[in-house]
Amino acid sequence: MSEILVLVDHVDGEVKKVTLELLTLANRLGDAAAVWVGAGYEGSKEKLAEYGAKKVYLAADEELTSYVVAPKAALLAQLAQDRGAAAVLVAATGEGKEIAGRLAVKLGTGVLTDVVDVAEGFVAEHSIFGGAIVAHAKVKEGTPVIAVRPNSIAPEAAPATPAEEQVSVALSDTDKAARIVERVVEEKGERPDLTEAAIVVSGGRGVGSAENFKIIEGLADSLGAAVGASRAATDAGWYPHQFQVGQTGKTVSPQLYIAAGISGAIQHRAGMQTSKTIVAINKDAEAPIFELVDFGVVGDLFQIVPQLTEEINKR
Ligand code: FAD
Repeated sequence: MSEILVLVDHVDGEVKKVTLELLTLANRLGDAAAVWVGAGYEGSKEKLAEYGAKKVYLAADEELTSYVVAPKAALLAQLAQDRGAAAVLVAATGEGKEIAGRLAVKLGTGVLTDVVDVAEGFVAEHSIFGGAIVAHAKVKEGTPVIAVRPNSIAPEAAPATPAEEQVSVALSDTDKAARIVERVVEEKGERPDLTEAAIVVSGGRGVGSAENFKIIEGLADSLGAAVGASRAATDAGWYPHQFQVGQTGKTVSPQLYIAAGISGAIQHRAGMQTSKTIVAINKDAEAPIFELVDFGVVGDLFQIVPQLTEEINKR
């Protein structure tokens, strides 16, 4: 089977869930080969093996992580050419998309972004115009470079025993043009990461104030969930922007998404409509969010959310 390169997305050695999704997808299309750049592999190798990495290309050289995206694109280009990879998969994050673009230029091939699935023959399904349109596309020549949206594929454990191979790449002056001077790690807090959480509880304009977001946090904590917010809530300064869900915020696809006081604008849907089960609490029975929910509660969130929290806490 042909090799599908998967760029591992990790923060200081902790593998992001999206990488497990990419490995699952890669094994459907061929043989998943993980490409690890930077330190921390030892602590994560079991995870990669558990999710089916048949091969791991290891580039632990500090220099590759000292510069912004260019070295990763250079390494992937070299591997794709030398090994004749059938495709390269990266996460459709800010960094992943930039790497994908650079890589496609280096390989003289095409790039597909915001992909939510890939079928046989590397036909990619991707979500465009904020999720309003689903398009199918294929790279006509060369190695396809595909940026896959986090939370689009359900990761499946498929234990493998990966062969490890140390690799390196010679960097050009251009690759070294932008150096990383400082890394600031986002404060994670006690709650799960928004994009990786199994349950997300989001609040919108209906929540009314920053103070009132405690009600949303209370429900989230009773469920072990992450907290999200609509743009109306983040723009009003009621909740930090990093928790915004939607077209210009984070994309989430949890098992359960609870939207309280959110109308369901297309830009909000774009970030949550692939959630497995959607519940909305809204006092307006005509709110568009009710068009896509599995369960809808028409009522005042200030009554319903605390009651729900109390009931869950009793169990
Ligand atoms: P509203 O639309 O005002 O809805 C509030 C809802 O709360 C109403 O349905 C109301 O009935 C309900 N409500 C009020 N009080 C209560 C109560 N006591 N109990 C129960 N329900 C109550 N939006 C995003 O969310 N994410 C994005 O990433 C995003 N990106 C955008 C990008 C662009 C380019 C543009 C133009 C817009 C973007 N928006 C985004 C904004 C989007 O269009 C909406 O304005 C926004 O999602 C509305 O937020 P909301 O649903 O919280 O507020």
